[in-house]
Amino acid sequence: MRKFDKPDFDVKEIVLTCASSISDSEKKERIENVSEYIDQKSREYNSLAESHLLFQIDIHNMVDGLVSAEEMKQLYEDKFVKHKYVRPKYYDKIMILTNGICPVCELGQVGNLDHYLPKSLYPTYTLTPYNLIPICRDCNFKKKTETFSSYEKAPIHPYYDETDDEIWLKAELNIVENGLVAVYFVNSDIVNDVFVKKCISHMIIFDLYKKYATEAAREISENILMWKKGINKWGEDGFRDYINDIIKSLECIHNNSWKVALYRALLENVNVLYDV
Ligand SMILES: [Zn+2]
Repeated sequence: MRKFDKPDFDVKEIVLTCASSISDSEKKERIENVSEYIDQKSREYNSLAESHLLFQIDIHNMVDGLVSAEEMKQLYEDKFVKHKYVRPKYYDKIMILTNGICPVCELGQVGNLDHYLPKSLYPTYTLTPYNLIPICRDCNFKKKTETFSSYEKAPIHPYYDETDDEIWLKAELNIVENGLVAVYFVNSDIVNDVFVKKCISHMIIFDLYKKYATEAAREISENILMWKKGINKWGEDGFRDYINDIIKSLECIHNNSWKVALYRALLENVNVLYDV
């Protein structure tokens, strides 16, 4: 969950480009006629998102009373996603914005674009680039077409939410019958308590407590022998130095990954290695 630069395409140009190959001239004209309205509304979307007020946008079923949600969906699927001249201009470029990794879970490969505000309920933003998030299929399935009544109930928006200023993702190591497990939680000590609630919503919506614990279980099982050897060989202080170097290296990528949270938990509790 890192912040990424939002795609910087002119939405009016996107609408007109998508409309240009429509053969039904009446429909083509109607869509061209709403391009200015969509442009203006997309600017409003950007301002509201910057102020964390995106939830104030009302659900609707027509774009400026002229084009239906179904027509916008068709325009998106037939032209924006599939048209051989339109797709490379926008869709393919947005798909690679996060280097192929899902920005929501940071585990899966990007499979398609998700409409942050679902296109069936907010058709005006079907082609708004700031509303299109490259996402893995699993996260897309989990989000479904929910609406969110407040900033804190909505998931983190990868183009607008500053997620790396503070350490909000933490873990603790617990000994269980068959070894060591990591339990993830959102750090409630950070200053911005609204953001704490938002992070918790994000973790629940995308089932990330469980996913991160599973990733951590693999990391622990692959490394535990080496960690135990390390603490015996270098002593606790030497082992802490080694773990600290791993943390610093992971922090260069980002501050709140499941992996850096796991190594911070190990650093805080290296003694746990004597008991497993
Ligand atoms: Zn994902």
